[in-house]
This record gives sequence, structure tokens and C-alpha cells, in this order.
Amino acid sequence: MASSDAPANPALGGKAYPIVDHTFDVVVVGAGGAGLRATVGCSQAGLRTACISKVFPTRSHTVAAQGGVAASLANMGPDNWKWHMYDTVKGSDWLGDQDAIEYLCRNAPDAVYELEHWGVPFSRTAEGKIYQRPFGGMTTDFGKGPPAQRTCAAADRTGHAMLHTLYGQALKNSTEFFIEYFAIDLIMDAEGKCRGVVCLKLDDGTIHRFRSQLVILATGGYGRAYFSATSAHTCTGDGGGMILRAGLPIQDLEFVQFHPTGIYGAGCLITEGARGEGGYLTNAKGERFMERYAPSVKDLAPRDMVSRAMTMEIREGRGVGKNADHIYLHLDHLDPAILHERLPGISESAKIFAGVDVTREPIPVLPTVHYNMGGIQTNYHGEVLTKKGDNPDVVVPGLMALGEAACVSVHGANRLGSNSLIDLVVFGRAAGLQAAEIVKPGAKQPELPANSAELALSRLDRYRHANGATPTADLRLRMQKVMQNNCAVYRTGEVLQEGCRLIHDVWSGRDDIKVTDRSLIWNSDLIETLEFDNLIVQAVVTMVGAENRKESRGAHAREDFAQRDDANWMKHTLATIDDDAKKVSIDYRPVHSYTMTDEVSYIEPKARVY
Ligand SMILES: Cc1cc2nc3c(=O)[nH]c(=O)nc-3n(C[C@H](O)[C@H](O)[C@H](O)COP(=O)(O)OP(=O)(O)OC[C@H]3O[C@@H](n4cnc5c(N)ncnc54)[C@H](O)[C@@H]3O)c2cc1C
Repeated sequence: MASSDAPANPALGGKAYPIVDHTFDVVVVGAGGAGLRATVGCSQAGLRTACISKVFPTRSHTVAAQGGVAASLANMGPDNWKWHMYDTVKGSDWLGDQDAIEYLCRNAPDAVYELEHWGVPFSRTAEGKIYQRPFGGMTTDFGKGPPAQRTCAAADRTGHAMLHTLYGQALKNSTEFFIEYFAIDLIMDAEGKCRGVVCLKLDDGTIHRFRSQLVILATGGYGRAYFSATSAHTCTGDGGGMILRAGLPIQDLEFVQFHPTGIYGAGCLITEGARGEGGYLTNAKGERFMERYAPSVKDLAPRDMVSRAMTMEIREGRGVGKNADHIYLHLDHLDPAILHERLPGISESAKIFAGVDVTREPIPVLPTVHYNMGGIQTNYHGEVLTKKGDNPDVVVPGLMALGEAACVSVHGANRLGSNSLIDLVVFGRAAGLQAAEIVKPGAKQPELPANSAELALSRLDRYRHANGATPTADLRLRMQKVMQNNCAVYRTGEVLQEGCRLIHDVWSGRDDIKVTDRSLIWNSDLIETLEFDNLIVQAVVTMVGAENRKESRGAHAREDFAQRDDANWMKHTLATIDDDAKKVSIDYRPVHSYTMTDEVSYIEPKARVY
């Protein structure tokens, strides 16, 4: 970084940055659905737990989740967790780990009943049971039967209902919240154990060093690496950045989910629940084109397939609108009373962001970046894993990761809609149970290494005084455009190679970054720079991973390698970075080809048709 007008203070940790120390049994970074569920579990286990969040807990992106949470309650037709497991494995295009998927689907009903008992105001059937709607890729009888009604919903504001309820439970269990604290970096000791985390308190600029027996990262996805995303501006993958800087691997980032129905132009989401309630897509000729791509489930095909079909229609000149560059989503044939009752939120969004009255006109939509299947590698207890020698599943002591930040991997190459919210609460609960096993309440903790805050403070200080030529916002925009243009729904070797070059240029451009505000109080320029630093490394890993994977699987669709290649590529990508040399290294880990129990057998790979 270029030298600055106000020189960086070499006495880090000295007078320039007074440090406030805290000791907890467990520190959870993130107060979305995953972080809060883990927080409740740890608190209930008698562990002194801190929950840190850069935004007020109920503003976490989980609040925006609309359509629902998947669990085989069988309230509205036959269902069981084994069908849910089959659908999830098939949806993942056989990249998901089947032991973890078994854990998810088997535990999903209890996790939803727990939410119900804690007060989530689910919509109801006439008999008073939890209302469930169909969602893409969710079927009955191991894919042979009609769509399953498996997605439990609170109208189209399910995430909102869940997040508020979980926050209430956390308060009830005396969790200590540190709200509007920004976690900068992990504290790792010489043995590779995680010992805590260093944070900046946003409203007064003080530095807080948290020492704990366990750190749980639940920091959400990094959708904002792209120009058009349904995710909140806070979804900057801060946990993934911390992991990469700690020298640990990150898994399968090349699998980025595009949601078929982002509002054209604005990018905000229209839930898949809209198609679950009977909505359908049309092209410029008024054709319901999904009938051609997925004859049996049509508009309820999984997201990767619908996004590809829409892209194809547009490419072949059948897009709608002045520039023939988007698609219509119709709800205008549905009963306005049903729209009002079950889809009130998206009716309002369509009005505000597309100027459309959904009871009369179709909504203009376009595939929009929505979810990161990849993330921090963990087992189904939430423990972060790393590769040592030939063993890819070595537990990193003192560290867990959950939710969209993590990759368990239950979503593999493509997540089914409503499987994220259930992932948050099932694995959030699992992390609490595991924490109760491995953390001793109030155990005395060794002193932290003398230089424990250095990584975090030197980065903070460097960026605070960065005086190069490129403002963070310019560099961020360049990154977002490169990702949007060169790592989209369809990919080719040539475009990805160009993408690698361009995204590496942005990474190198970081050395010439300019931060204008030197203060420490509500310095959004500085925070956005730290967030950009987290985004760019994951953007680079995404692009490099996509170039490297020479097959098509789930959301990763290569036109030059159009087939899935199980012989060579049924394996997870593990990437590490050298942030100074600006290099990405790629390694692999086998997909778990076994289940958790003998109650189900391994689901053999086959062609993924719907
Ligand atoms: C518009 C939208 C609709 C969706 N609808 C559905 C749906 O209907 N069903 C479904 O299953 N999935 C849905 N998803 C996906 C799902 O909502 C998300 O994957 C999930 O909510 C992520 O939860 P999380 O707990 O992992 O992270 P988030 O909810 O994103 O929370 C992240 C938390 O980490 C904190 N944090 C991050 N970085 C830092 C830092 N550096 N320091 C301190 N704190 C930090 C944040 O403050 C926040 O509290 C939807 C997603 C979007 C964007």
C-alpha cells in the first residue's frame, strides 16, 4: 500500500489502539439464523456465550428469506425424510456428502417443531397444522411421485418470523450480545488452534479482543462479490476471508446459485414460493417454456435448471421487453385473495421495484446471484476441517462454521430452495450440542499469544491509512462487473481464463487502494474496505475454481465441458491462498460416498433429469 499522509502507527496495540479484553466460553460471530440458533444452544448448555454482529441481529440477511423452510412433516400429503434426502442428493448433483444430508433431513422435522414451539408464527392449514408449499426439486417417492408439499412457510416472510423468534430465545437464555461490532480476524495460535477473535466496535472505534474456547463463524454468504445479487449489502463473506487469511482451505466456491426470479433491474427476490403457489414463466411468444426443459416438474425444476432455461430463451431471441433481455413470471391467473394471504411481501416488492400489480400483470424477472453453495469446510457437527497429509477431514480445534458461510456439504453443486433455512437451524442446533461436549463451562483459558491482535490490527491500520489512487468503491465495482460478466450462469474456458486475469488484476489493484476517512468512529469507508478485502479473495477463488473444474455439475455449467464427469470430478475443491504473492492453490477432497446410519443406503449417481 502506498504511504499515507497520516503515517501508520507502528506501535500497534499500544496507545494507537487500546484493547478491551473479554473472556467467554464460546464466541459466535454472526446473528443470522445460524448464529442465533447456535447461540441459543450454547447458552442452554450452560456455556457463557457472546454473540457478535456487525448489524443489529434482526437485520441479518436471514430476515429477507421469503419462501420457507424444508422439513418432511407430511402435513399436506405423504412425505418422509428419506424422500427429502433423495431430493437433496439429486439436487446437489451428487456433490453433497450423503452422511451430512442424512443428518439434515432426518433432523429437519424436529428443528421445525422446535421453531414452532418457540413461537414462529407459521401459516396454518384448515386443521391448524403448519402450512407447507411445493418448492423446486422437492418430490415424493424418490423422484417418482408428484411434487412434495414440504416447505413450511409463514406467508412469504418466513426468515423474518424465524429470525425474530430466535433473537427472542437468545435474549431469554441470557446471551451477551455485542451489536455493531465488526470482527476483523481470528486469533490462531502456533499449534493451529483458534483462540478468539479481534473486533472493532463501530460506534466508538475501540478494539475488543475476545478470548474463548470456541469461535463459531456464522457470517453468511458473499453474494456481494457480484454486481446483481438478491443478498443484502452486508453479505460480504467476512468469515471466509478470515479463514483464507488464517491459511485454512475453503471448499467448492465455484458453485454459485443464480435464483431464476430476481426482479429485472433491481435484483430483489421474488420467492420460488411464487411458482410453488402456481406461478409460471413465459417467453416473448407467451410460451410456458419450462415444459420443454423439465417435462415432469416444469416451473418447479431446481434453480440451476430454470436459470439455464431462461438464459437459453433470452439467448435464442425469445426474451421479453424492449431489449428482449428478460422473462415474465405470471401470478395474474391466481386468486387475488390467495396472493394477499400467501404472497403479500412479494406483491409489495413487485409494485415498488417493478411497478407491477401482480394480480393483473406479469413480473419482469432475470436469474440473479442468490446463494453460495461453497464455503468453510465443516463436518456435520459444525467443526471446521482442514487437510493434513492425505487426511482431508482433520478438525481445526476451537473453530466451527455454520450457515451460508459454511460448506458441510449438504447442498453440493446446487441447493434446493428452502434447504438453507433448515440447514441454519439443524446445524446451528448440532453446533450447540457439540459445543456442550467439547467446551467446559468456565474452564480457565491460557493467556493469548503476545502478538494475538497483530494480524487484525496491522490490516486495520494499513487500510485506515491507505492512500493509493483507487477508491474502494471503484475497485469493488470492477470486481462485481468481472464476476457478473465472466462467471455467470453459463461458463466457457475462454471467458473464465479472461475472468481469472481480470479478477487477479483487481486483487493486485488492492495494493493501490484509497481510503479517505481516517477516523475510527462509524467509518463506513474503512469497513467497506475490510469487507472488500474479504470479498475479493473469495471472488478470485470462485473464478479460479470455475476455470479449473472441467465438467458441468449443478450450478457450474461449462459449455465446453457440458457433461458431468463423475470419474474425474466427483470431488470437492479445496482452495487456499497466498495473499501476498496473490496466488490460489487448489487441492481436493473426496465426496463422502457413505451415509450416517444403516437406515438408508448410499444413493448411487445417475443422470439428473426432472
Ligand atoms: C432475499 C433472500 C431470500 C431467501 N429466501 C430463502 C428461503 O425462503 N428459504 C431458504 O431456505 N433460504 C432462503 N434464502 C437463503 C437464506 O436466507 C440464507 O442462506 C441464510 O439466511 C443465511 O443465514 P446465515 O445465518 O448463514 O447468515 P446471515 O443471515 O447472512 O447473517 C450473517 C450474520 O453475520 C454477521 N456478520 C457478518 N460478518 C461479520 C463481521 N465481520 N463481524 C461481525 N458480524 C458479522 C452479520 O451481522 C449477520 O448477523 C434467501 C436468501 C435471500 C438473500
